[in-house]
Amino acid sequence: MLCPCGCRRILHMNLLTDERPCWRLTRHEDGTVSLHPSVWRKKDCGSHFWFQHGRVEWCRAE
Ligand SMILES: [Zn+2]
Repeated sequence: MLCPCGCRRILHMNLLTDERPCWRLTRHEDGTVSLHPSVWRKKDCGSHFWFQHGRVEWCRAE
């Protein structure tokens, strides 16, 4: 997926459980998906967000 902040970088979320870090993809009955845990790009744009039910939920910058 493209980074939702608009920086146009492509995010690669590893879903393989034998590698770290990895994310768990949950598919809901309504056809949307959620990722767990949150995505935090410590390099580049620094975006921190959750992807829940097909939508990006931003974490507030501290
Ligand atoms: Zn970004």
